[in-house]
Amino acid sequence: MQKNITVLSGDGIGPEIVREAIKVLDAVCARFHHTFRYTYVDIGGCSIDKYGVPITEEGMQQCKSADSVLLGAVGGPKWDNCPPAIRPEKALLAVRKELGLFANLRPTRLFPQLASASPLKESIVGDGIDLLIVRELTGGVYFGERRTGEENGDIVAHDDMNYSTREIRRIGRVAFETARKRRGRLASVDKANVLDTSRLWRRVMHELAQEYPDVIYSDILVDNTAMQLIKNPTQFDVLVTENMFGDILSDEASMLTGSIGMMPSASLSEGTLGMYEPIHGSAPDIAGQNLANPIGTILSAAMMLRYSFSLTEEADLIESAVNRALDLGYRTGDIFQPGCTKVGCSEMGDCITACLARI
Ligand code: NAD
Repeated sequence: MQKNITVLSGDGIGPEIVREAIKVLDAVCARFHHTFRYTYVDIGGCSIDKYGVPITEEGMQQCKSADSVLLGAVGGPKWDNCPPAIRPEKALLAVRKELGLFANLRPTRLFPQLASASPLKESIVGDGIDLLIVRELTGGVYFGERRTGEENGDIVAHDDMNYSTREIRRIGRVAFETARKRRGRLASVDKANVLDTSRLWRRVMHELAQEYPDVIYSDILVDNTAMQLIKNPTQFDVLVTENMFGDILSDEASMLTGSIGMMPSASLSEGTLGMYEPIHGSAPDIAGQNLANPIGTILSAAMMLRYSFSLTEEADLIESAVNRALDLGYRTGDIFQPGCTKVGCSEMGDCITACLARI
C-alpha cells in the first residue's frame, strides 16, 4: 500500500513525539512492505514565526490532498499574545473545517500495567478501562447563533443549539460502525428528558439501531454517564454524543487513565481522510528535553492505520507493541513507577519499535 501522509509536527514537544510515531510507522512499512510518503508542513507558532500565519494556504492544500494527516501539538507562551486571528490554535480549527472533520474519536484506555496511575481505586478499574467516545464535532451549541442584548430591562445571553437529522445520522453511522469493529456495544448519550435536540438525536439513533442488529444499543442520560464513568467505567465500549456533552465527557474520561501523554485521538471526515493527534498540548515545560511520552502520538498513528487506511492487523500490532513495552517495565517520567525503567521520549520510541519487530 502507498499512502501520502501530511505531517504537522507543530510546536513544543510536537516534533519530538511525532518523530517517534514516524519511527514506528516506518517499522510497520518495513514489516508489511507498505510505502508511506511524508510531507512536513509548518503549523502553529513555528508557522507564525516563518510566514506570519498559523498555516499557509499551500500547507492547507497539502492537508487536503493527503491520504491522512498526523499532528503533534501547537502553541506555547511565545505566541500567547498574538492577535486572535493568527493564534496557533486558529490553524487547528481551520484544518478541521477545511477537511470537514465532523467525528472525533477518543479512546480511553487504561493499560492494566498502569492501573495504579488512575485516580480511581484498582477495584473499580479492574483489568483496565477500554472505552471510546465518538463526539460530534461541527454542530450543536458551539456552532449555533449567539447573541447578548438587553431584554425587558435586563441583559440576556442566548446560545442556540441545533441538530439536523442528517448531522445526527452521519455521526451515528460512525459510532455504529466503530462499535462493530470493537466489542459491539454502543451507548448513545443525550438529555432527552429535557432537550428537543436530544429527543431528535434519540429518534435518529433508534432508527439506525434497526440497521445494526449486531450492535447492542442503549440510551443513557448525560448526567448519569458522568456518574457511571467514575462508578463503573469498565461497563462501556463505545459512547456517542453531541458536541458539548462529548467535549466534557471526553475530558472526564481522559483523567481515568492517569496520564494525558497516553491518549490518542482521531478526527474523521465523510471520506477516509482524517487527522490524528494526541489529546495533549505542546507541553512547553518539558519541550526539547527528551522527556515527553510519545505513546499518545504512536497510538494516534495506529488509529490512522485503522480508520483511514483500514490496516487493522498493522494497527493491532502497534497497540500490542505499546502493551509489550509497558509489560517490560519501560516508562517515561509521567507514568514512572518505582521498579520500572525510566526512559526518554526517543528511547520509548526505540523500545516500541523493537517490541514491534519481535511480535
Ligand atoms: P499540555 O497538554 O501541553 O500540558 C499539560 C501538562 O501535561 C504539562 O505539565 C505537560 O508537561 C504534561 N504533558 C502533556 N503532554 C505530555 C506528554 N506527551 N508527556 C508527558 N507530559 C505531558 O497543556 P497546557 O500546558 O495547558 O498547554 C500548553 C500549550 O499547548 C498551550 O499553548 C495550549 O494552547 C496548547 N494546546 C495545544 C493543543 C493542541 O495542539 N491540540 C491542545 C491543548 C493545548
